[in-house]
Amino acid sequence: MKSRTDHQGLSALFPNELSDLISQEPLFRGRQLFTWLAGGTFKFEEMKNLPTALRRTLIDRYGETACTSKVVKQQTDTDGTVKLLLKLYDGLFVESVLLTDEEGRRTACLSSQVGCAMGCTFCRTAELGLERNLTASEIVEQFYHLTEIAGQPSHIVFMGMGEPLANIYETARSIEIFHFSEGLNISARRITLSTCGIPEGIRFLAESFSVPIRLAVSLTSADNDLRTSLMPINRKAPLPELHESLLYYQNIRKKRITLEYVLLDGVNDSETACRQLVQFAKGLECVVNVIPWNPGAGLPYNEPTRDSTERFCSCLEHAGLRVTRRYRRGRGISGACGQLAGSGTSPHHIQPVMQTNE
Ligand code: SF4
Repeated sequence: MKSRTDHQGLSALFPNELSDLISQEPLFRGRQLFTWLAGGTFKFEEMKNLPTALRRTLIDRYGETACTSKVVKQQTDTDGTVKLLLKLYDGLFVESVLLTDEEGRRTACLSSQVGCAMGCTFCRTAELGLERNLTASEIVEQFYHLTEIAGQPSHIVFMGMGEPLANIYETARSIEIFHFSEGLNISARRITLSTCGIPEGIRFLAESFSVPIRLAVSLTSADNDLRTSLMPINRKAPLPELHESLLYYQNIRKKRITLEYVLLDGVNDSETACRQLVQFAKGLECVVNVIPWNPGAGLPYNEPTRDSTERFCSCLEHAGLRVTRRYRRGRGISGACGQLAGSGTSPHHIQPVMQTNE
């Protein structure tokens, strides 16, 4: 068997790559192995059409299961939101959430990194800093863990812990696996990548990425100075540069972009803020997703009232923008946007936190 770092896992490999991995076997064995994994069977012993000797070899190499992570805690909210805490091969933790909306969409909210380096001031993940990038397998496995516990998600959004464009190659590989027609075959329209706004990553998605997924950008303010104070990425990539990259993306991909706007009481919810957002949206084919901030312990913000949220949304709508509101789901288990927090046991992650990009 060819050498491969075991912790990289097998679930983000295509059939031909699995065949390479077991190159002493006939080519079709790779496809058989892929089919088991894509169907959610990770225990080698259960892969009945693989010869016993091959199963033993795989077990010797990878252990009983091809899965590199395991669920150590699961919680379900009264609104049906399911949150999982996963322990990774090296003892670190991430969380994944399954949200079910009124229309019955079941969205897997996946993490792309352990922690995050982006430092957004309204986000609890920022407090962790960046521990490491997730491997593509670790991203894919989140989907399978959610499927096993709560049923298969219909949609995927990269809006969990971490900035997916800061881990672009592993994230892109996981998306290719999700979309692969011989595997899960999830439509690109059902996969959304949510970013804090990294122009070179947005250009990569526009120019070089084969899967035409949806793009969401966490804006949070269309005032350059305020955005810099809320989202340090804005110092490196100020609003004009971000806007330019979005136009570029749109010209190539011809797809509507979602602008996510976390509404912070008294910070970015004024009429002026609304006008600035309308100005930023000019020229973009976009929808604005307004997300009332979910309280996170110790963060210096207040949750907007429903009235002020509606006022802000109406202001945008009067200016002709398409607006969606994302009211809370999963709050009973701290699984809502912006407040995901698990209970891992690593000293550094006494309370590992997952906030959203957006
Ligand atoms: S909001 Fe997203 S990009 Fe910003 S610190 Fe949190 S996880 Fe990172």
